[in-house]
Amino acid sequence: MSDVVVVGGGIAGLVIARTLLIDGFSVIVLEASDRLGGNVSRHVVGGISLDSGAESFATRGGTVEALVRDLGLGDEIVLPNPAGAWLQPAAGPAVPLPATSLLGIPGSPVAEDVIAVLGTSAALRAFARDAMLPGTAGAKSATLGELVRRRMGDDVLDKLVAPVVHGVHSASPDDLELDRVAPHLRAALRREGSLARAVRSLRVAAPAGSAVAGIRGGVARIVDELVADLQRFGADVRLNTRASAVTVGSVTIDDDVLGGHIVVAAPGLLPSDGSPPRIVTLATLVVDVPALDAAPRGTGVLVANGADGIRARALTHATAKWPWLAERADGKHVLRLSYGDEPQNLAETARADAAALLGVEIAPDAVLDFARVQWSRTTATEEAPDGITAVGEAIAGTGLANIIGHSLAQAHNVLNGRSE
Ligand SMILES: Cc1cc2nc3c(=O)[nH]c(=O)nc-3n(C[C@H](O)[C@H](O)[C@H](O)COP(=O)(O)OP(=O)(O)OC[C@H]3O[C@@H](n4cnc5c(N)ncnc54)[C@H](O)[C@@H]3O)c2cc1C
Repeated sequence: MSDVVVVGGGIAGLVIARTLLIDGFSVIVLEASDRLGGNVSRHVVGGISLDSGAESFATRGGTVEALVRDLGLGDEIVLPNPAGAWLQPAAGPAVPLPATSLLGIPGSPVAEDVIAVLGTSAALRAFARDAMLPGTAGAKSATLGELVRRRMGDDVLDKLVAPVVHGVHSASPDDLELDRVAPHLRAALRREGSLARAVRSLRVAAPAGSAVAGIRGGVARIVDELVADLQRFGADVRLNTRASAVTVGSVTIDDDVLGGHIVVAAPGLLPSDGSPPRIVTLATLVVDVPALDAAPRGTGVLVANGADGIRARALTHATAKWPWLAERADGKHVLRLSYGDEPQNLAETARADAAALLGVEIAPDAVLDFARVQWSRTTATEEAPDGITAVGEAIAGTGLANIIGHSLAQAHNVLNGRSE
C-alpha cells in the first residue's frame, strides 16, 4: 500500500504528486490514457512542434512562474508580443480590443476603442448606468455575467465580455462563478463604488508586465519536467489505468482496489453539477502567407457570438504572439482556431474563418498543413467528500494558474494531515 494514490495525470495530478513525493510520501499515479499531461500536450504540424492544448499561463500571483523556475525552466520563460488581440464584433470589421479592460469589462466605457465596438449610445448607457448605481448593486452577483449585465447592460456583456471570456475559458460569462474567474473584482467594486473604477483600480494594481507568459518551446515542457521529477523521486506511474470509483482510503480499478490517501485529479469521479461536458475543437493551420508577416490582427482575434459567417470562437496568430515560434516556423505562420462544436469540414472552415478574421487571402494551396484536436472540458463539481482530496480544473477553475496554485495548497493540506 502506498501513502497516496493520485487519480488523473493531468497538470493538477502531476503537481500534487511531485510535491508529496518530494516530502517523502510514496505515491501511485493512475492515468486512464497512454500519456501524462492531460490538456497540456503537444503535436507536430507542418514539421513544427506545437502545444496542442494550453499554450500560455497567467502570471498573476507568480504561482506558475515559481513552479517553472523550480523545474529548471526559469530561463525559458517568454513574454508574448505586446501588440495584443483584436475583437471581431457581430457586425462590422475587427477592432483592437479596448486597452483598459478586464475580461472585456471596460475601465472607461466611453473610451474611443469601446465606442468602436458598442456604438456611442450603448457606450453612454453603460457608463451612465454603472456611474449611477450604488457600489452595492451587483456586488452579490454569483456569476460574471450577472454582474456585468446588472451594472453595464447587455451590450457590454454580449459584445465585449462574452467574446473575451469564450476565447479564454470556452464558457459563457453566465456560467462562470465571479469569484473564481475574477477573484478581486467584487471587493474592488465595493471599494470603488463603480465597476468601471473597479476595473481601472485592478489594472493599476496589477504588476507591470504581461498578464500571460509562455515557455520557449511550448508549455508542454512543464509536463516533461514534472514527469522527469516523478521518475526521479520514485513515483509508481500506471498509464492506461482508469479508476472506476473512489471512496475514502480506496480506489477501484477493474477488479482491484488500491488503498492510501486518495487524491482525485480526474474529472468524472466526483459529484458533477449536472451540466454536460463542453467540447472544444482546435484547428491548427500552418500557412505560407507573407501578408501575415505584418501581424494584421496583433496576436489574434476573439469572436463575438453571431459574427457574420464565422464559426470559430477565437483565433490565435501563434507566430505573431510568440517570437520563439516565429523563429522556428522560418517564415511560415501558425494559426490556432477554436470551436465550441465540430464543423463538418474543419480544415476548409478553419481556412475560410482565418482569412475572414485576419483580413487576408489564404488560398487553399497556401495551407501547408492542418491538424485537429478535440478536448472535453470538465464540468464543475461539488466539494469532494471528507477524507478525499480533490484537485484540478473541475474544482479549481480553468487555467494553469488556478489549478497549480490549488494543487500546491492541497498538497500542503495533505502534508498537514488534513484535506479541504
Ligand atoms: C484547447 C485548450 C487550450 C487551453 N489553453 C490554455 C492556456 O493557454 N492557458 C491556461 O492556463 N489554460 C489553458 N487551457 C486550460 C488548461 O489546459 C486546463 O485547465 C488544465 O490543463 C486542466 O488540467 P487538469 O489536470 O485539471 O485536467 P486534465 O488536463 O483534464 O487532466 C485530467 C487527467 O485525468 C485523466 N483521467 C480522467 N478520468 C480518469 C480516471 N477515471 N482514471 C484515471 N485517469 C483519469 C485524464 O486522462 C487526464 O489525463 C486550455 C484548455 C484547452 C482544452
